[in-house]
Amino acid sequence: MTSDYHRRLPYGERRSAEPLVGHPFFPFEGDVQVVPLDEPVLPEPTRGGEGGEDCWSCSEPDKDAIWRDAQWKLKARKPSGLPFVATLEPRDHYRLDNLPPELTATLGPTIQRVAKAIQDLDPVARTHFNRWGDGSEHFHLWFLARPLGMMQLRGAMIAIWDDLLPAIPAEEFTANARRVAAALAEHGGEALAG
Ligand SMILES: [Zn+2]
Repeated sequence: MTSDYHRRLPYGERRSAEPLVGHPFFPFEGDVQVVPLDEPVLPEPTRGGEGGEDCWSCSEPDKDAIWRDAQWKLKARKPSGLPFVATLEPRDHYRLDNLPPELTATLGPTIQRVAKAIQDLDPVARTHFNRWGDGSEHFHLWFLARPLGMMQLRGAMIAIWDDLLPAIPAEEFTANARRVAAALAEHGGEALAG
C-alpha cells in the first residue's frame, strides 16, 4: 500500500452520512446511504487527452467556445440547472503544472474578468470557480453561477444542484452566453457566441 493515509482508510465500509445530513448546504435528507469505499486503483487510469493524445479540447478547439483571445477560450456547453456554467481553458494543450509563464501571468486577470462577466448576469449573485482535472488532462477551470438569494447553493454542493435543478430554457442559455462573451470581448479577445 502506498502511504499511512491509505492504510488507515476503511475499504469496503459504508461511512455514515450523518456529518452532512441537516447541514444547510447538503441537498439530501432522510435515509441517505453512502457508497462503500473502494480500494485505490494504482496506477491510476489515464485521463482524457493524456500527453496531448486524443484530447477532445484540442481535436475540436472551437466546439462550445463562446469567447477566445490569443491564449484562452471560454466554453459553455449546454443548458443546465444554474444560470450559467462554463470552462476556461488554454488554447494550447497544457496541464496546470506545465502552464508556461505567459499563461500563468494572464490566468489571474482572466479569472477575474470571467467571474465578473458571469456575476453581471441578472439572476446571479456570485461566480464560483474551481479546478478538478480528473476527467481531462487539458487544463480547465469550471465557473458556476450562484443564483441570487439561493443560500442552499452556497459552497461545493452547487455542482450537485446544477444537475438537480430544471435546466434553463435554450434561448436563455444562448442569451446568457452572448452577454458573457460580449462583456469579455469589451476588454480583449473575440466573442464567438452568435
Ligand atoms: Zn488538449
